[in-house]
Amino acid sequence: MASLDSQYGRPMVAGGLGRQDVSTIETKGTALITGASSGIGAIYADRLAKRGYDLILVARNKNRLAALARRLENDTSRSVETISADLNNKTDLARIETTLRTNPGITLLVNNAGVGATTPLLDSDVEKMDEMIRLNVGALTRLTYAAAPGFVARGGGTIVNIASSVAISPETLNGVYGGSKAFVLALSLSLNHELAGKGVRVQAVLPGATATEFWDIAGLPVRNLPTEIVMAAEDTVDAALAGLDQGETVTIPSLPDKAEWDRFDAARRTMSAKLSSAVPARRYNIENPQFSRSVT
Ligand code: NAP
Repeated sequence: MASLDSQYGRPMVAGGLGRQDVSTIETKGTALITGASSGIGAIYADRLAKRGYDLILVARNKNRLAALARRLENDTSRSVETISADLNNKTDLARIETTLRTNPGITLLVNNAGVGATTPLLDSDVEKMDEMIRLNVGALTRLTYAAAPGFVARGGGTIVNIASSVAISPETLNGVYGGSKAFVLALSLSLNHELAGKGVRVQAVLPGATATEFWDIAGLPVRNLPTEIVMAAEDTVDAALAGLDQGETVTIPSLPDKAEWDRFDAARRTMSAKLSSAVPARRYNIENPQFSRSVT
């Protein structure tokens, strides 16, 4: 099978560190990466091993995971465990939750496994949509719930959630996919709010179109997209990790000016203070609202 790295983008080892260099890097604990058998997840595995993490790689495709693990162990001397699991299968998902709950060596969770769709609602199979929600939303939520209490108890840990630019651009692609990624963004913002004071970092990554098999699986091969809007998976992950290093809560690899996101987020926060009121807004012309009647 052609490896994703040669099919899409640069070879994963290009410009990387040699075995000698990485083996001397102090370990940073273990990173558990879901969807590590291809695309963005496989690049995370490569980059995190080179940064000194031991790895637990999760996906369904056993052979791909094994080949990646062999290469990374060889290149980096890090320990790489693989768990073949279908995160849409309750028993498999529970196994990964148990790993997260019981392995105190895990310091980083990368919630990356996900699928997309490009079809409009009227052309989409609701069963496929439900499957997508269970993976993109359900599994990600359960794995977050499994990891976070241990991170809090140990006073540290990082959760990286791979959302998508469609989280804030739901008119692009399939609406259920956009909705699932909006959930990932909202959950990440809320978790960051709740857990930052407890030593836990949460980052949401919002990639734009990235050259992976995602597009083939979603029914629109990436070659159909204008090349100027498609990023190599290596660049997406390197930018996401740079964003993490810079302390970003939300990283949008393609967005040229971070101030644009900051303004968007600030507008949302300002509006948040006005979103709950005893009295309906005047434009709805509700005469004698209940609240004014009850206080007069
Ligand atoms: P990809 O190459 O298709 O990778 C998806 C990964 O998820 C694979 O490792 C796949 O492995 C795994 N996976 C799929 N279903 C699974 C299941 N039921 N149980 C366990 N693992 C499963 O696509 P990608 O682009 O790297 O996608 C990674 C993440 O990036 C997704 O969350 C996607 O929504 C997000 N994203 C992608 C793009 C893009 O343009 N590519 C843009 C924005 C966001 P197995 O098949 O071996 O299980």
